[in-house]
Amino acid sequence: MSATAAPPVKNRQLYIDGAWCEAASGKKLAVTNPATEETIAEVSFGGRADCARAIAAAAEAMKSWMKLTAYDRAKVLKKTADLMRERADAIAKTMTMEQGKTIVESKAEVLHSADTFEWFAEEGKRAYGQVIPPSNPAKRHLIIKHPVGVVGAIGPWNFPITLQVRKIAPALAAGCTIVCKPASQTPLCLIGVFECLIDAGLPKGVANLVIGSASEISDEFMSNPVVRKISFTGSTEVGKRLMRQAADQVKRLSLELGGHAPFIVFPDADPEVVAKAAVIGKFRNNGQVCISPSRFFVHKDVHKRFMEVAVAEAEKLKLGNGLDEGVAVGPMFEKKAMDNTLALINDATGKGAKCVTGGKRSTKFEKGYFFEPTILSGLTQDANILTEEPFAPVMPVLDFSKIDDVIAAANNTKYGLAAYVFTNDLSVAWKMAEGLEAGIIGLNDPVPATPQCPFGGMKESGIGRELAHEGLEAYLETKYVSIMLRG
Ligand code: NAP
Repeated sequence: MSATAAPPVKNRQLYIDGAWCEAASGKKLAVTNPATEETIAEVSFGGRADCARAIAAAAEAMKSWMKLTAYDRAKVLKKTADLMRERADAIAKTMTMEQGKTIVESKAEVLHSADTFEWFAEEGKRAYGQVIPPSNPAKRHLIIKHPVGVVGAIGPWNFPITLQVRKIAPALAAGCTIVCKPASQTPLCLIGVFECLIDAGLPKGVANLVIGSASEISDEFMSNPVVRKISFTGSTEVGKRLMRQAADQVKRLSLELGGHAPFIVFPDADPEVVAKAAVIGKFRNNGQVCISPSRFFVHKDVHKRFMEVAVAEAEKLKLGNGLDEGVAVGPMFEKKAMDNTLALINDATGKGAKCVTGGKRSTKFEKGYFFEPTILSGLTQDANILTEEPFAPVMPVLDFSKIDDVIAAANNTKYGLAAYVFTNDLSVAWKMAEGLEAGIIGLNDPVPATPQCPFGGMKESGIGRELAHEGLEAYLETKYVSIMLRG
């Protein structure tokens, strides 16, 4: 099963103004399978001219798309969700082949994204305005909602479908049109989503796919006044650059950036149950997840038992090609990610930490970026892994004894995306929910993301929220209409 074959998704080109097309420059880019290091496909690789054409098509298409009722737009989104569910196996296989995660994780991502399309198909019908009581008896005040305009969407490789669908679905539901730029190394599975949109009746120009040079596409997004909103998911470093560039034309901006989530275990929680959840949460997608738990604070009374179970569970995880049955952890995404992981481990152990399990590239494979699930203990405060976002299959475990100290330690980061707390004590749980600086808090819940609840971060983890009603509002302007009545 693990032998390389062509990914099942059909197209290999850009999708602009209702047609699959080559890049204007004729350039191509090879897509690599991180499990085999083989080229699995070549895709068209666009640039500024393709992006400009896509923006013009989106602007033209918006004239009629925004005038449709939310009910008519919902039909396209709902049908897209249905087609994604029908084609989930093929799209998931494509994702595993280009990204590396296991087929189980890929399929869950496709289905979660189908749910997101369906949820926003409905939520678009709830872009309500308001009638506000006047203080002048001759006046009436109303609020109406208006689509923001053409959207430029840029997404990363770690969840190549989910993180684009969180932009496409609400933008289209709100009456906006969109130009999507996927991460260059994972364009194929998003092509699978576009095939569903097209077969669901997407009018030409409403959603466009420009695989291509990040700098050329973002330069066009930023300088072209037709683009009114940028929605970006990726690193904090690139997010800051986009924020500075967006200032020139005061473009609307949504930013979903890096994270460094604390995972806090109180002494009343069952350390065995929590250690098992911790290992599943940490090593899914090799820790290459923005809300991945990445600093583990375990109360000293349960620390020993937590460590025993976590190490035993981590050592049981089967590494391998994500297409193969029974594999729990696929390859890391690229060699650079593995090198970075090794550097963080070496830095921590060089400063006194102990590597309890893992700690190196797996020697079981001739090819592929396979890294052993790693657990570190005895970390010193100056270990880089405690401040840099690791994006790696590494679990650094610290201990604590006082609630105020653990809140301070958890908040001691520039990030504020997710946090996890395990306790059955309501007062402790509530104090943590109020005290933690994070946009998403999982209380005894290691997997909190769901389409109907807001997703996003505080501090340098971003601006705005995706999903939920906030995720729709991000694509709507508020218009205030004041009416003076005669006589
Ligand atoms: P990245 O390097 O910032 O890349 C993300 C996207 O931005 C890619 O499409 C990339 O294109 C593009 N890009 C790169 N440089 C750019 C530039 N100068 N201007 C405009 N676009 C540019 O991030 P990544 O390494 O792919 O993703 C990992 C990061 O994303 C982590 O920090 C992670 O925490 C964050 N993330 C956040 C969330 C969230 O919801 N908060 C979710 C997932 C991931 P190319 O591929 O063509 O270079």
